[in-house]
Amino acid sequence: MNWLTNFIPPRIRSIVGEQKEVPDNFWAKCPVCEKMLFHSDLSVNYNVCHYCNHHLRFPVKERLAMLYDGGKYEVIETPKVELDPLKFKDKERYIDRMKRSQAKTGLRDAITLAKGTIGGLDAVIAAFNFSFMGGSMGMAVGEAIVKAAEIAVKSKSAFIVIPASGGARMQEGMLSLIQMPRTMVAVEMVKDARLPYIVILTDPTTGGVSASFAMVGDVHIAEPGAQIGFAGPNVIKETVREKLPDGFQTAEHLLQHGMVDMIVPRKDMKNTLATLIGLLTQKPYKKDPKKNGKKDHADTESKGAEGEDKGSSGSERAVKSRANDNERAAALQALTHVRVAREAVLKLGRTVSDLAQGAGTASETDKKIAGQ
Ligand SMILES: [Zn+2]
Repeated sequence: MNWLTNFIPPRIRSIVGEQKEVPDNFWAKCPVCEKMLFHSDLSVNYNVCHYCNHHLRFPVKERLAMLYDGGKYEVIETPKVELDPLKFKDKERYIDRMKRSQAKTGLRDAITLAKGTIGGLDAVIAAFNFSFMGGSMGMAVGEAIVKAAEIAVKSKSAFIVIPASGGARMQEGMLSLIQMPRTMVAVEMVKDARLPYIVILTDPTTGGVSASFAMVGDVHIAEPGAQIGFAGPNVIKETVREKLPDGFQTAEHLLQHGMVDMIVPRKDMKNTLATLIGLLTQKPYKKDPKKNGKKDHADTESKGAEGEDKGSSGSERAVKSRANDNERAAALQALTHVRVAREAVLKLGRTVSDLAQGAGTASETDKKIAGQ
């Protein structure tokens, strides 16, 4: 059908919606163990290789359906921005490249915003589409993160960002780099509102994205084996002219060095998020029995922070509730430490911005950047 799909103009293809990249055959090859995998098996297993547990890239639509309760969520429209303000051209015009990506993915840009509940608790998610120009962050992505943060604050929801990005979009030059401080201020608004800001680092999280909002979460979760770093390993190797350690820039390496708080397999992600949001907001949450462990394993665990497991005896319940109290106390203590540190940094920032004469700008976020 290639001749037909090629024949349809890109604009019409983009209207049809997100095109699932249709595989050429029924198989995919695991890039790590090189075993052949059925697409149908992969989809049941959240795109995880069932031989070696390698986490392959995961389409945003499926990821959102996996995370939100009952697979239901509301897509938030991303803000419109000027497509090619610099009239940039390298091998091809930036505007042509953009239109091709829009037609291929059916998306406006490299980010999708959604709203719904996770474990019964409100959550706004901003998820990157790596298939759209390598998930690069330009004005559209920056604007979308600001909008998502504002919606999270207004609706008192947790804010979850799921980066999968090569970094800033070089075709937008300075306009893409300025999204780094803008997104930082956006997530700061969420923290000021005392709402959880959680980052799920997926493969790859690099460049300007890892150098801004992706590394300032209240909690950093990573997917197993994800590449997380700023510059690529080859660039670093050539610069420092030293052998890099094994597993350099992997989620596991970063966990050992304190940059990542936990590595969570995809199948456990939803319940981990529900628990974290519940603990951070001190609200009762529900765990999804189907998504806690293997998909075919009917686990009956389903209880909130208040606990309602009828099977256990009174003393068992007391022990569990004490354990929950301890968990909550530890989380609150950690949160207090983070907030004290953050307030100190903000104070320092205010002192610096007092010295600068900020000009009046349109949006609230820009005002905050200018320190007004
Ligand atoms: Zn494999």
